[in-house]
Amino acid sequence: MTYSKDNPFTAPLKFRRRLNGQASDKNVQHLVFDVSNSGISYKCGDSIAVFPKNNENETAEILRLLKISPETQVNLPFLDEKISIFAALREYLCITNLPDQFWKWLGEIETNFDMGSFINNKILSSDPECQVLAKSYSLLEILKKIDGHCKVEPSELVSKLRRLMPRLYSIASSPLANRNEIHIVVGVVSHINAIGNKRNGIASNYLAHGANIGEGIRVFVVKSMFALPTNAESNIIMVGPGTGIAPFRGFLQERQCMVDKGDKIGKSWLFFGDRNRATDFLFEEELQAFKGSGILTNLDLAFSRDQENKIYVQDRIWEHRKELWLWISKGAYIYICGNASKMAVDVENTLKKIAMELSNFTEDEANGFLKSLKDNRRYQKDVY
Ligand SMILES: Cc1cc2nc3c(=O)[nH]c(=O)nc-3n(C[C@H](O)[C@H](O)[C@H](O)COP(=O)(O)OP(=O)(O)OC[C@H]3O[C@@H](n4cnc5c(N)ncnc54)[C@H](O)[C@@H]3O)c2cc1C
Repeated sequence: MTYSKDNPFTAPLKFRRRLNGQASDKNVQHLVFDVSNSGISYKCGDSIAVFPKNNENETAEILRLLKISPETQVNLPFLDEKISIFAALREYLCITNLPDQFWKWLGEIETNFDMGSFINNKILSSDPECQVLAKSYSLLEILKKIDGHCKVEPSELVSKLRRLMPRLYSIASSPLANRNEIHIVVGVVSHINAIGNKRNGIASNYLAHGANIGEGIRVFVVKSMFALPTNAESNIIMVGPGTGIAPFRGFLQERQCMVDKGDKIGKSWLFFGDRNRATDFLFEEELQAFKGSGILTNLDLAFSRDQENKIYVQDRIWEHRKELWLWISKGAYIYICGNASKMAVDVENTLKKIAMELSNFTEDEANGFLKSLKDNRRYQKDVY
């Protein structure tokens, strides 16, 4: 069965637990969706797209400020049936990032606040600084600012908002080990926006606190080229700090199942890291068990805040460069998962540095070497 954005499967949330210790300032959650009887198939390395829901209290507060009954029925262009405006705002529309068409429309609505000039001078201004500030307003924040003093037609309001888009999560399980389940690892995000208010990430907070166990969540699998080598005897090097551990948990489960069936597998090497070992060693017991059983040949750890000098996965890679280069020279596959803007760049630069030192490559040759690995699918990234 193929599910998609327009035809998602409603998967009950089966299990959730926080992976960090109480004292950690990070909140990473392990969640399990029940996909039995769905016909969903997936492979290690695929992602799952999850339709989040907006915060229930914020949605109710928006309708209270607008004096609109939550039961008011509205049409959405991408749904066949009418639904309540509460369901539309909670489940289908984005109420945090508001498009220009919303601001233009709001500017035309009479209020007791000089919205017209606020919108024209700030929101629709060409000054980027003004825009950052003004466009930080969520629907609830702007309604509070104008104290709900605007009269809106429910159908018009919903027509001015964007569709709430699904978020992708790397699948953290193997279908061989969990036929009827899909596991994910979610880092809860929040930041202080330009107005100075705390803004919680929609999907990560919904998954971590908003959804109840047993609640149906709309999902679909997104196929990925990020995959184990077709030859199970190939050696693999996995670099996955933080939530980047997700697909590698799936890879290791898959290789465990292969061994249990009597298949031969190659060696595997995992570089994992986070802030503190005592609280942020995600899946510590499982990883140590994979190491103990030999599924994981090498496990190298980098906990950045356990010592004065910060140590990251790229530092561990550099320390072990001679052995690592030997693995790569003999055909190992290298995988990176997690933070795209910093970690993946630093790891790639370290790989280049190693190629230059140990193979005497020029920078261009090192780039060319990594490109040839990529072209042969021996260097794969799942970064975000
Ligand atoms: C292929 C892929 C795989 C992924 N796998 C995983 C995974 O396994 N685990 C995981 O946790 N995530 C994963 N992600 C990221 C995930 O899809 C979501 O982006 C993440 O959970 C945040 O979504 P959210 O709805 O909670 O936040 P949103 O509501 O979307 O808010 C996040 C947005 O807030 C803004 N923002 C955030 N911080 C700041 C700041 N400091 N200042 C200003 N603006 C800011 C940014 O615009 C950012 O895009 C993956 C993404 C991709 C593309």
